Amino acid sequence: MKKIIIAIDGHSSCGKSTMAKDLASKIGYTYIDTGAMYRAVTYYGLTHDMFEEDGTIRLEQLEAAMDDIHISFVFNEETRRPDTYLNGEYIEDKIRGMEVSAHVSPIATVGFVRTAMVAQQQEMGKQKGIVMDGRDIGTVVFPEAELKVFVTASAEVRAQRRYDELKGKGQEASFEEILENVKERDRIDSSREISPLRQADDAILLDNSNLTIPEQNEWLYEQYLRVASED
Ligand code: C5P
Repeated sequence: MKKIIIAIDGHSSCGKSTMAKDLASKIGYTYIDTGAMYRAVTYYGLTHDMFEEDGTIRLEQLEAAMDDIHISFVFNEETRRPDTYLNGEYIEDKIRGMEVSAHVSPIATVGFVRTAMVAQQQEMGKQKGIVMDGRDIGTVVFPEAELKVFVTASAEVRAQRRYDELKGKGQEASFEEILENVKERDRIDSSREISPLRQADDAILLDNSNLTIPEQNEWLYEQYLRVASED
């Protein structure tokens, strides 16, 4: 089997990270959640007073702080998944809630933020053997990735999954608010000027609205076997 790069892009909350993490753990690859990186920058902005009352980003302040934002992932032996750290602080439980979700897509439209994140992601994938999920992995970060998947599902199905996930963690959640957030993030991600969310020409489309997690994992594993065993 050759070592490859697997790029998984798609809409918000469509289960990309679940399938990417499960595949990486099954085949011994490194998993990188690029959404967590944009969430970490957003968390930094929220905790350093970088948003105006109306949600506008204080760009000058954020740009000056970019060199002080260090994001890392530490593999958690218990959950078998990587946890996100910002400047050495564990922030995994802080970046999945509604406050970060409501501010992250505007942060992800900022050119200097994207440039910094993409450079780090390309560095992480240099050795291959990586499963990376996001919005622009197959189009911008690794246009040469051997396997590209574009995942989608209806907005209602995605909102329900997110709602169940937050409830499961004991966090406050309103289905209507989540549905609005999912639709709004899709709108911003698809219409932004830099690296908009779009399916790469050579990506395989997967609509997982009616698939169970084991079914989608099996489907992805088969795609991996097919591509990694090619000469
Ligand atoms: O994947 P997740 O929903 O956690 O990503 C959070 C947000 O980060 C997305 O809504 C999108 O705005 C942004 N993002 C991005 N490019 C990526 C990954 C995430 O713009 N590669």
